Amino acid sequence: MSSSEFASLGLAEPLLRALDRLGYSTPTPIQSGAIPPLLAGQDLLGIAQTGSGKTAAFSLPLLQQLIATPSRPHPQATTALILAPTRELALQIEESLRGLTEGRRQRIVPILGGCSRYAQVNRMRPGVDIVVGTPGRICDLLGTGELKLHDVRYFVLDEADRMLDLGFIRDIRRIVAALPANRQSALFSATMPREVETLASSLLRAPARVEIARAPETTPRIDQHVHFVETSGKRALLGRLLADPGMERVIVFTRTKRGADRVSEALDERGVEVSTLHGNKSQPQRQKALDRFRRGQSRVLVATDIAARGIDVIGVSHVINFDLPAQPEDYVHRIGRTARAGAAGIAISFCDNTERATLRAIERMTGTALQRAA
Ligand code: AMP
Repeated sequence: MSSSEFASLGLAEPLLRALDRLGYSTPTPIQSGAIPPLLAGQDLLGIAQTGSGKTAAFSLPLLQQLIATPSRPHPQATTALILAPTRELALQIEESLRGLTEGRRQRIVPILGGCSRYAQVNRMRPGVDIVVGTPGRICDLLGTGELKLHDVRYFVLDEADRMLDLGFIRDIRRIVAALPANRQSALFSATMPREVETLASSLLRAPARVEIARAPETTPRIDQHVHFVETSGKRALLGRLLADPGMERVIVFTRTKRGADRVSEALDERGVEVSTLHGNKSQPQRQKALDRFRRGQSRVLVATDIAARGIDVIGVSHVINFDLPAQPEDYVHRIGRTARAGAAGIAISFCDNTERATLRAIERMTGTALQRAA
């Protein structure tokens, strides 16, 4: 049978047939890791991104339990609750559940903002098997008694890091307070900042922890530091850091071309050998700047993101983010300029008051807390 690998995880026949129909023959890593402990009734902490197959990882054990012990929920109550941060994600989860339950009569109800409240309340009336929803509308119906959570045996919190980003922590706490203590819970998050760890430890009991390796860009060993600094103090800080002779070959990133020129001029005035690379320079000028830096004639290269794409210089000891990049992905590209060819590297970021939110986004995306400089 093509779904034998799923069978070896302990899934029952009706679900194996559904998987066959969907053409899923091999479990993804999060599915192999999460399904057995969930089937055994254990709580779970899953660190995995969208696209990893995490929806089926929590849905299959949930559906298996509903098949094994069909529930008779009370009016307005549900046996399972799945919380998602956005409408779109909740609808995707609902669709995925329907794909896995085709032909069976599981009552699945989405409870989302922006849709008819009246229709949702009506569908909750007889009691249902699974509610998939977003925190705001769930809290709303919970408050009026039109949704009851005291029968929930199975609770999933999906994309916990995004939930916290979107400011849902109070709603989540209210919802969790309405759940019975005797339940199984699973929490999924793409990253594990401290707030998510705290939330997980308050929700889960002795969870199995399954972590799916992150994208390879963030794996080389790079020490990452952050200095909190006034905007006007960045140049002086850069000057002080560059006084350290250990900074042998340094790339300084700025967000704008003008910023790059200003930083270069300031360094030049201090007597630092510096080259500049940005989009307003001609191709021969850029080549010359890069050659000087490669040959070690200039110790510092000041560059903007676009100009630095694809440059490959061995032996860059430090990357300094004079400004944080607007996109967290650019942060990963920037710091990847150091630690080339397996060497270790150091990345230092300057963060002024206007950049705090950007810093948080970077830390969440990379799953790394930057070390705070004294
Ligand atoms: P998710 O990370 O849950 O959003 O799933 C990502 C995509 O992978 C969805 O389109 C699923 O339908 C698909 N998928 C999940 N599990 C499997 C599997 N074992 N084999 C093939 N596709 C899968």
